Amino acid sequence: MTKNLARISTTSATELLFRIAVEKAIGRPPGRTDGDLLPAAQGFCELLKDAVVTTLLVEEDAPTRSEYDPSPARSPEWACQLLESLYCLEVPPETMESVVAHLLAKPRLHDMGKTMLPAIEPLFEWLGAERAKDAPWFVKLCLGCLAELREEVCVKPREPRNWAMPVTCVCSCKRCQELVKLCLDPARAYLLMEEVTEDEEAHLRDSVQRYNLPISPEERDGQTDLEWTKAGSDKFPDQSELRGAIWDQRKLAMKAKKLRDNRALIRNMLGDLLGEGLNSTRGV
Ligand SMILES: [Zn+2]
Repeated sequence: MTKNLARISTTSATELLFRIAVEKAIGRPPGRTDGDLLPAAQGFCELLKDAVVTTLLVEEDAPTRSEYDPSPARSPEWACQLLESLYCLEVPPETMESVVAHLLAKPRLHDMGKTMLPAIEPLFEWLGAERAKDAPWFVKLCLGCLAELREEVCVKPREPRNWAMPVTCVCSCKRCQELVKLCLDPARAYLLMEEVTEDEEAHLRDSVQRYNLPISPEERDGQTDLEWTKAGSDKFPDQSELRGAIWDQRKLAMKAKKLRDNRALIRNMLGDLLGEGLNSTRGV
C-alpha cells in the first residue's frame, strides 16, 4: 500500500481517506452517518490510513527557496481532512500527537499562517467543544501554534545604523557646509547636490581630501547634479536603515496582534484547560 501510495500525492491520498472515513462515516462521530459503504471499503480505509500516516511521518519539509517563490504550504482544508479522518478512524492518541508534532515541525509544508492557524477554528467546530477539550492532539495543536507565534514576537527588531560621522569643520562655504551636514546626520548616507559647476566640484573634491571627509562623489558623466555617498553605505541607502527599522517595528506589532487575537480565540475554545500555557505569554 505504501509503495502504491507513492504514486499519488499525500494530499490526494488524504482527500480520498477523508471522503470515505469522514463523509461516509465509517468511523466514530462526528462523521456523518448517511454512509452506504461496501464492507470491503472499511478494510481499504484502514490500510489507506496506515499508509498516509507512515508516509507523512517520514516526509521531509519542502526545501527553502527564494522568498519570491510560491509557498509550498498545504491548505488548512487539507490539515482538517487529515486530522478529522484519523480521528474518525480512531488512530491511537499517541499517533495523533505524533502527526500533530510532525505538522508543526515542518513549517514550510505546514505554514503557521497559511495552514495551521486557519485549521484550528474549523477543527474545533467540527469536534465540538467537549471532544476538543478531551483531545490531547487538539490541545497540542493549539499550544504548538501559540508557541510558534510567541517565538515570532520574541525577535528583537534591528536598530537603525547610526550614520553620524564626526568631522572637523571645513570651509564655511554653502556647498562644503552641505557636506558637513550630511556627515553629521545620523540617518542620511546620501546627498544629491543640484546644479554643481565644475569649479565647485573641484573645490568640493579638494575639501573632501583635505579634511578627510568620509564621503565620496559619484562620477557624473556630464550631469549637472552631483551625488554623494557615505563610506560603507550602498549606492542608494539614504535613510534605508531607518525605514528598515520602522518596517521591522511595524511587522512586529502586527505579529504581536496576531498572537493576542489567536490567544483570545484559543482561550475561548479551551478555557481554563490551558491556563498555564496561556499565562506564560503575558506581557505581549
Ligand atoms: Zn567650501
